[in-house]
Amino acid sequence: MSQIAQSIDAAASADSNFSLGSSEPFAVPLLIDGELVEGSGDPIEVHDPSTGEALGMYRGASAEDVDRAAQAAGRALRGPWAKLSPAKRAKLIWDLADALERNAEEFAALESENTGKPIELMRRFELPQAVEILRYNAGWATKLNGETREVSLPGEWHTYTERRPIGVAGLIVPWNNPLVMAAAKLGPALAAGCTVVLKPAEITPITAVKLGKLATKIGFPEGVINIVPGLGSVAGEALATHPLVPKISFTGSTKVGKHLQRTTADSLKRLSLELGGKSPVVIFADADLEKAIEAAARSIFNNSGQVCAAGSRLYVEASVAERVIAGIAERAKQLRVGGAFEEGVMMGPLVSAVQRDRVLGYIEAGIAAGANVVAGGGALERPGYFVAPTVLTDTTPEMSVVAEEIFGPVLVTQIFDDSEDLDDIATRANDSEYGLSGYIWTRDIRKAHGLARRLRTGNIRVNTVSGMDVNMPFGGIGASGYGKENGREGVEAYTELTSVAVNLDS
Ligand code: NAP
Ligand code: MG
Repeated sequence: MSQIAQSIDAAASADSNFSLGSSEPFAVPLLIDGELVEGSGDPIEVHDPSTGEALGMYRGASAEDVDRAAQAAGRALRGPWAKLSPAKRAKLIWDLADALERNAEEFAALESENTGKPIELMRRFELPQAVEILRYNAGWATKLNGETREVSLPGEWHTYTERRPIGVAGLIVPWNNPLVMAAAKLGPALAAGCTVVLKPAEITPITAVKLGKLATKIGFPEGVINIVPGLGSVAGEALATHPLVPKISFTGSTKVGKHLQRTTADSLKRLSLELGGKSPVVIFADADLEKAIEAAARSIFNNSGQVCAAGSRLYVEASVAERVIAGIAERAKQLRVGGAFEEGVMMGPLVSAVQRDRVLGYIEAGIAAGANVVAGGGALERPGYFVAPTVLTDTTPEMSVVAEEIFGPVLVTQIFDDSEDLDDIATRANDSEYGLSGYIWTRDIRKAHGLARRLRTGNIRVNTVSGMDVNMPFGGIGASGYGKENGREGVEAYTELTSVAVNLDS
């Protein structure tokens, strides 16, 4: 084992205290066939977004590395993994959840350092969420069934359907919630009986590799879980085009999602695409306004706006618009923004300098097009990739800040008139190529359900900003992609349905 591999091996042990940028030499190996190995691809620099400083370099996965990972996953699929009963698979996934929970503090610290997320929010939300996702999916391993079917063919028949694992699943995830996203892909894929090759985003590879290593330590057979951090254009491309990988589950941008649809066309791979969003928040005058204001602010500033389902377009009824917009702007100004490990911080930096500059570019374009800044409006004067929580008024549908996904802490606001009916309001809310989430605030049950049925989005929440449960199917339509994660549908996405007809006459 190379020295780099040894250092992360120690890092992944349940008892070690590993911290990036501390005395430990920085290293991110790949996990292939149960072994930590150094990548043979391009060198990749990893930063601490809270300071902007480099944490270190690692070598990403090359196409050859991805090939070895896919081969290992293929062997495990036909070998030890196929021989395990569903109950044993369930137990292993549950055990992984327990191991993650035991090591929660270490995972939280690593993720915070690598992404800039406030550590307290990691502890309170993302770690428990990742654990919960694994536990929930563990239960599905023993509950995936086909069914018998009655047929009307002449003679006597025994006919039934079977759910089979689709094979080696290629999992490609972005940088906004690296650990939660890894759990959300691994849990259902493993429950369904697939083996996996997971490619984390190149800039946030650490917790995924560590989770994979932890899985190997607690007893997952070698090759069932392979982790290949590296460049999308190299490792991601190699995975998406690999002949041993019949299924790609992708979370990321619409641009790359479309690219994957093209690159997988010839092989007819099965694709799940969880893409971007520009989700509307509609607040009616009769809503519980204090709750709505608080929730609207949380929805866009949580994780510095780097959330696919963020409520990023606000539509508020004219009679309460001033109060609501002022309330959200006030919260934006009060929000404690700072480094991941600073006390009391509620919003961290953006994940990278590239992402910060992208967000700032949108804000500038909005201002140039006539938007008015009522909170934030620029970068924070400090090292690291900070953008102030921003609220823009006087925005119109043609502006890029309104039409495009910013993936940053920027809320655009528009006002609708009391005379507009639900169809008019829905037309405004649906005026987007995306269709991921929609948020409705009203005490009027007729407006709530009436607008909900008119919204063209995959997920709708009424009088809440949360409501995202692992048992509720999640996924978008239009430019937000297709396929569902979570729930039974999320596990079935990793299966093939086969039907068997047995003639009993002869
Ligand atoms: P991205 O550029 O599309 O990257 C996502 C992943 O795809 C990364 O691992 C990336 O690798 C990889 N990739 C890039 N090019 C590839 C290629 N040619 N072939 C295969 N893989 C490739 O997205 P991002 O900028 O990291 O993430 C932000 C986006 O994700 C936003 O649009 C957001 O809305 C979306 N998102 C959606 C959901 C959802 O559930 N709907 C959840 C979270 C985020 P690199 O690291 O090298 O780029
Ligand atoms: Mg990218």
